[in-house]
Amino acid sequence: MRPTESEFLVIGSGIAGLLAAIKLAPMGRVNIVTKKLRSESNTNYAQGGIAVALDPGDSPELHIQDTLKAGSGLCHPDVVNFVVGNGKARLEELIAMGVAFTGDETGSGPRLALGREGGHSAKRIVHAMDYTGREIETVLLERAKSLTNIAFFENHIGVDLILESKRRGERLKPDRCWGAYVMDAVARTIDPFTAKATVVATGGTGKVYLYTSNPDIATGDGLAMAYRAGARVGNLEFVQFHPTCLYHPLAKSFLVSEAVRGEGAVLRTLDGERFMPRYHPEAELAPRDVVARAVDFEMKRRGDKFVFLDLSPIGKARIKRRFPSIYARCLDLGIDITKQAIPVVPAAHYMCGGVVTDRDARTSIDGLLCAGEVALTGLHGANRLASNSLLEAVVYAHVAAAAASRVAGAHGVRIPPIEPWHDEGTAEPAEGVVFDHDWDEVRSLMWDYVGIVRSDDRLTTARRRIGLLREQIDAYYRRYRLNADLIELRNIALVADLIVRCALTRRESRGLHYNIDCPGTDDVNWRRDTLI
Ligand SMILES: Cc1cc2nc3c(=O)[nH]c(=O)nc-3n(C[C@H](O)[C@H](O)[C@H](O)COP(=O)(O)OP(=O)(O)OC[C@H]3O[C@@H](n4cnc5c(N)ncnc54)[C@H](O)[C@@H]3O)c2cc1C
Repeated sequence: MRPTESEFLVIGSGIAGLLAAIKLAPMGRVNIVTKKLRSESNTNYAQGGIAVALDPGDSPELHIQDTLKAGSGLCHPDVVNFVVGNGKARLEELIAMGVAFTGDETGSGPRLALGREGGHSAKRIVHAMDYTGREIETVLLERAKSLTNIAFFENHIGVDLILESKRRGERLKPDRCWGAYVMDAVARTIDPFTAKATVVATGGTGKVYLYTSNPDIATGDGLAMAYRAGARVGNLEFVQFHPTCLYHPLAKSFLVSEAVRGEGAVLRTLDGERFMPRYHPEAELAPRDVVARAVDFEMKRRGDKFVFLDLSPIGKARIKRRFPSIYARCLDLGIDITKQAIPVVPAAHYMCGGVVTDRDARTSIDGLLCAGEVALTGLHGANRLASNSLLEAVVYAHVAAAAASRVAGAHGVRIPPIEPWHDEGTAEPAEGVVFDHDWDEVRSLMWDYVGIVRSDDRLTTARRRIGLLREQIDAYYRRYRLNADLIELRNIALVADLIVRCALTRRESRGLHYNIDCPGTDDVNWRRDTLI
């Protein structure tokens, strides 16, 4: 077998990709391609935790109800039952692998300490202090590294999926995926990474917006690749904006976890007024979309650039003990959060829509599975309940591995000969500044016109301008030899276009999608997914 050929190709090394790879390793060789260093992922930055009903006063039924309520009528109830029902088993698996979640410091009640987050009717957030994602990512990386059947390809970017229809030069329904064309970002060579089954676990799309809590990898590549390959995608209008990202010129995408509000922190305008009780009976613990819209509204009404998150109700000792990373990061920037309020703004945080998958993580293309934030499983509906995404990722990585091994093990599956990547006739880009400019333009357009509050006019303008930008970017793509910037630019422009198309299609407001020209919820016509 050539190094670029394997039973299984996994694209992405966050929680979903690593867990799927670890589970696939006993079944055959697994290649993991990941576009930067292997730990660079949204997973690595997750602070809050993973939602599992463990408290004696809690139950899976309550967790299901909270998830359905947050999802505003669009969750698929069977999927919610399935994910919540599998949460405890998957959590125990993570613990068995060595993930050290924080224990209950009172010594009574449940063994694990449980945090509270907005929209949850009980304390149910299992966490590792305020660096849950990093703890999970570290343990999974160690485990994956120890398995001889897993090979890592860092600084390797998936460009496009390899399709049977392209190979044969004819339309196929369903099509079949045989891996992906992958660019070595250092050598700038593109090779086919072939596999009997491909798991796309490329995470979210935060970088489509100017302000985001997501790291640089979150450019929606997997979503864009799957869409170009003909897979069904949907619900992309449901972008979750986190209400509290640190506002500081030197802090790029630093999130202040919802758990901080769960512990008692309150939001205030710059003149000290606590405003959330005016917007929702649960004040700071209202669902995220309500808090994000309230912060956005207060900032616009007063012409302020941020609001304050005041942690004084938590108490100095507990702040340092419960939120060591947030305390340290803010202190680095000159803000002592035991004495000063934190300046915060809302920022794009989580994509509820994605590539449509079934209960086995299968897409509409044979041999192609998706897990984690890239997928639209039906769990989140119109709004994700906090800490349900790590849960969804572990549950679906598990089923994706099972489904991938069935695909690869099916009788007679052999990878056919695949054409090399052709880039004859392309030239080196003359200057990178044009890519930079388009990159900034897409992200600013999305922030200004397709943000927390939308209107028909702004969406239509965004559609037209993004269309023009895409024409230009497609021309670069045909003309220039590819590099990482151009691959990502092409993807964020496509994802932006798909978000706008979904937002224009939905003629109502629901969950995370709020359009002032159709502010009501229309259950008769729109209690359904937006599918493209
Ligand atoms: C700051 C922050 C805090 C969060 N807190 C929580 C929380 O407390 N609880 C919770 O449930 N959720 C939380 N979330 C959301 C959650 O972290 C993510 O939804 C989840 O980690 C996604 O996991 P994933 O494996 O799908 O993707 P990621 O962890 O994002 O991994 C994606 C991987 O794909 C790679 N990749 C992307 N494109 C390509 C390409 N073209 N080629 C090769 N590789 C590629 C990336 O490099 C990366 O390795 C948070 C998110 C952020 C940003």
